[in-house]
Amino acid sequence: MVRTLRNNPLILLAAVAAAPMLVLAGARAGLERGGPDIRVPILVYHRFGPVVADSMTVTTPVFEAHMQYLKDSGYSVIPLRQLVDHLLGTAPAPSPRSVVITVDDGHRSVYSDMLPLVLRYRLPVTVFIYPSAISRADYALTWEELREMQRTGLFEIQSHSHWHPNFKQEKKHLNPREYEEFVTAQLTRSRDKLQAELGGAIDMLAWPFGIYDDQLIGLAVKARYIAAVTLERRAASTRDNIMALPRFLITNEVRGKAFERLLSTAGGSSGARVPSSTERVQTLRADACDKQPCDTWRGRRIGADWPPRSCLLSSSRRPRRQRTRDALSTPRRTKG
Ligand SMILES: [Zn+2]
Repeated sequence: MVRTLRNNPLILLAAVAAAPMLVLAGARAGLERGGPDIRVPILVYHRFGPVVADSMTVTTPVFEAHMQYLKDSGYSVIPLRQLVDHLLGTAPAPSPRSVVITVDDGHRSVYSDMLPLVLRYRLPVTVFIYPSAISRADYALTWEELREMQRTGLFEIQSHSHWHPNFKQEKKHLNPREYEEFVTAQLTRSRDKLQAELGGAIDMLAWPFGIYDDQLIGLAVKARYIAAVTLERRAASTRDNIMALPRFLITNEVRGKAFERLLSTAGGSSGARVPSSTERVQTLRADACDKQPCDTWRGRRIGADWPPRSCLLSSSRRPRRQRTRDALSTPRRTKG
């Protein structure tokens, strides 16, 4: 079957074009069967620390206050996997006050600052990482730390592409065939590396910078991802495309009453709502990522031009000079 698809571009094209619709149909199956139109806020954090080092840092005390509020207010923190299973029609609906916690990028503070609080509050977390940085960049987690987190039974590690490119920018610089190869390599290399290092099913994706479109969704489905998350400030519901589930970007400003308001207005009853001024500021920041990569860690910009695009071009077309970079982009093995 795979060979037939490979040898017949028309069939392959049709399969890729149909894939998002099939996934969407699956996501809507609950509604068609008369299931409840659930609303579950998915929160996304990035990094933690004693002080706000950049726009993506949530201080560790603020994060702890979030966890305490969820506990005291009767919210049920569920694994992203449980929500996805429900949207795929294989699990019952989560309880009305459910919340999902995710964290993107694999910053080392996820181990040093977030892990102790996750253990204390016993909360499930899904971590989306890009493997090219793991055990290699000084700001990033190591594979051993990720394995230790996994062993707690509270963390699920999933894919955030191989090196966090801005697909919108890449599309401008590559011809259609190169672009498709580039996206596919980003998605499959990440999945394969995660599977080799951590085991388990790698089938959920966080779109880098929250950027996605129909073509990207088709390629992700073809790469065997069953769900993906983005950055759109609303609760995930049965009506969403499961390959573009919205998430609330949590920054340090979203604390106290702002955090409470976000949760109380995101879940529960349906109907449009007016975003608060804080939320509008966060949305603007998220949008800014489209134009200028906002992941700046220790003065090093992670985004459109680093690691270099040439890392993922096939070796047969790549000049010798760039092969060295490819070797550098392969995460080194950790001891043990
Ligand atoms: Zn990211």
